[in-house]
Amino acid sequence: MNSILKELLEYSGKLSKNKLVIGPGGNTSCRLKDKLYIKPSGLNFEEMKVDDFVEVDIETGVISERQKRKKPSSEILMHRYIYQKRPDVMSIFHAHPPITIGLAASGTEFKHLYPDSAAYLGKEILVLDYIVPTTYKLAEYVRDKIENYVSIVLQNHGAITVAKNPKTAYLRMELLEGLAYSLWIALSSNPNGKIRYLTDQEVDEVINLDAEKYRTKLYDNG
Ligand SMILES: [Zn+2]
Repeated sequence: MNSILKELLEYSGKLSKNKLVIGPGGNTSCRLKDKLYIKPSGLNFEEMKVDDFVEVDIETGVISERQKRKKPSSEILMHRYIYQKRPDVMSIFHAHPPITIGLAASGTEFKHLYPDSAAYLGKEILVLDYIVPTTYKLAEYVRDKIENYVSIVLQNHGAITVAKNPKTAYLRMELLEGLAYSLWIALSSNPNGKIRYLTDQEVDEVINLDAEKYRTKLYDNG
């Protein structure tokens, strides 16, 4: 059994366990050479086994012969396009984190409040306008915007995080929802908007000087 698939299964399960998806929805994948392995349609993360991930050719979208009976997640095109555009990305997590969705619907900018979010979510968190889920238009839109980001919020829909491994992609999703929670508290306890965000310089300092230290301290090499 391949270890990246085991890791994908383990951290995919945490999405529902930790309420980053509510009910069905959300999908995850990883890349192995020229194939991606993606959550099948119609199964919850908790009931999945490693063999349930559907093997799909990243370039052509063709499902591997031995898995023809399975149907990949309806966001398969978005996953394929991200892998095509970003050779550095080895895993993609797409979830529907409720606080992130609520905050994005209010038009709030996702700016960093603390060093962990800056170290892990990238210099900027992109918030994209609503586009109907599962469509070609959404996949194309994300592909055209994702170049410089590891964390993307999809307004009125959810979020996407990408990384070099499933664990980091998951942790980014968890940190994104944590940031949304902190922003929510800050905004609701101070409605006139005087919030002390990290400045651009402070974000740069964390990213340029301390990112390595943070990664080691927090989690891994992703
Ligand atoms: Zn979705």
